[in-house]
Amino acid sequence: MSVEGSPQHHSALGMDVLKLPLLGRLLRHRHGRLALQALLTLVALALVLDGVVGPQSAARNLATVAPWVYLRGFVVIALLLAGNLVCMGCPFTLPRTLAKRLSRSGRRFPQRLRNKWLSIFSLFALFFFYEYLDLWASPWLSAWLIVLYFAASFALEALFAESAFCKYVCPLGAFNMVYSTLSPTRIAVKSHDICASCVGKECVNGSYAPQTVIRVDEIPVADQAAQRKEVRHGPRGTLGCGTELFAPQIRSNLDCTFCLDCVRACPHDNVSLFTRVPGAELSRADSWSRRWDVSLLAIALGFMGISNAFGMVPPYYALQEWLALNLGISSEFIVLLLIFAALNLLLPAAVSITAAWLGRALTGFHKRDSLRETVAAFAPAFVPVGFGIWFAHYSFHLLVGPVLVVPVVQEFLGGVGDWQRFSVSLDINAIGLIQLVLLLAGFLWSLRLAQKAALRLYRRAALLGLLPWALVFLLLMLLAWQIFTLPMEMRGTLELFS
Ligand code: SF4
Ligand code: SF4
Repeated sequence: MSVEGSPQHHSALGMDVLKLPLLGRLLRHRHGRLALQALLTLVALALVLDGVVGPQSAARNLATVAPWVYLRGFVVIALLLAGNLVCMGCPFTLPRTLAKRLSRSGRRFPQRLRNKWLSIFSLFALFFFYEYLDLWASPWLSAWLIVLYFAASFALEALFAESAFCKYVCPLGAFNMVYSTLSPTRIAVKSHDICASCVGKECVNGSYAPQTVIRVDEIPVADQAAQRKEVRHGPRGTLGCGTELFAPQIRSNLDCTFCLDCVRACPHDNVSLFTRVPGAELSRADSWSRRWDVSLLAIALGFMGISNAFGMVPPYYALQEWLALNLGISSEFIVLLLIFAALNLLLPAAVSITAAWLGRALTGFHKRDSLRETVAAFAPAFVPVGFGIWFAHYSFHLLVGPVLVVPVVQEFLGGVGDWQRFSVSLDINAIGLIQLVLLLAGFLWSLRLAQKAALRLYRRAALLGLLPWALVFLLLMLLAWQIFTLPMEMRGTLELFS
């Protein structure tokens, strides 16, 4: 066990990213995030402008090309290599910050909705309407989706005390938060002793006050007398953690937007962004709440990765036709709703409950752990396989036209798009190989996590307990691979290659 202040403790914390010369200073600066958000807000406004008044061709418009082709690819790469950078620079939280300043005594978000059910629903709704309304093909609708996002984030922040939009509603946030549990960085405190003597707990409460207030804290220092430190609250203070995480108790990246408000608010420089072994939290039993909503969010996201890709290949249209013919349903809305409800909600719930039930029955542990606890123990293991599916899918769209955004920007700025020069594509076989590697890596990582969970739960009978889950991961990977080998719609780029 590492001891507070010892070298082992610091190596357990990893490298302090905020101590890096230029990047660290930029991120810690009180306006560092604001600068990033302001930049991305300008980009978002450009997307809205192009979507509303620009050419209504998906491949030539920023409102469709940027979010549906490039942003999604950037999100998964950033999550894997750095962390939740997209939530960190998210422009949707800019009106949120303003709203929060205007309404300092917002109400609490309703107790019944303070969970991940709403996130599951909003993810389901986003993928459903993406498919039903062909959002990827409509710059105009994509632009209005961005406007809707700004409006929803502003309204919820103005109404409620905590960051309800990020924590409970935003589908992009839910995706980023779940897969940031794989990331090589996390928020942590340097010394728990300092937190124990900290009076204001500014990391969560903030240091903002309408009038300046000065307090003096006694801060413990190893082998020395405690030091007195002046703590100032005032109009220039920082808001505390919007998602109400208390820094010394953070065990997971779930719910963390990487906003670094806790870093800026802590008066004792005791909290920072540290590197860690990627996905370290996923193999620990105490990282995630053992709740159905948390478990099903992580599990359903993997299945949503399959259905999202399935919607772009020929068998999906054949299934739609078959359902319409055999069930006599002529409404595309209803047919799509049935397919998505089955694939994205019913299947993940049924498969995980069945695997948990089977694992308990095979090992003879059915009386000790409830189904909820068993599913919760294996839910983190769905993160790598799900991430592999999403990454493999997005890498396809990214690599068939990696620099096609350049002529789109050229045309947006009023110039002539050099389509000839930038219509380069990676060889399709090479893309297939990359996809296969990503799927395999996700599968093997998930298998390893599930093995650790099975060992924790079933000890000598671990192999039997692992079996149903291993089968689920294998089927998910094979299904994804089968879909990726079929001709896939090159959404947003098709017309340029035809
Ligand atoms: S992280 Fe900073 S503000 Fe939060 S409890 Fe610890 S010392 Fe106090
Ligand atoms: S303030 Fe909260 S959400 Fe922001 S980085 Fe700190 S812990 Fe994460």
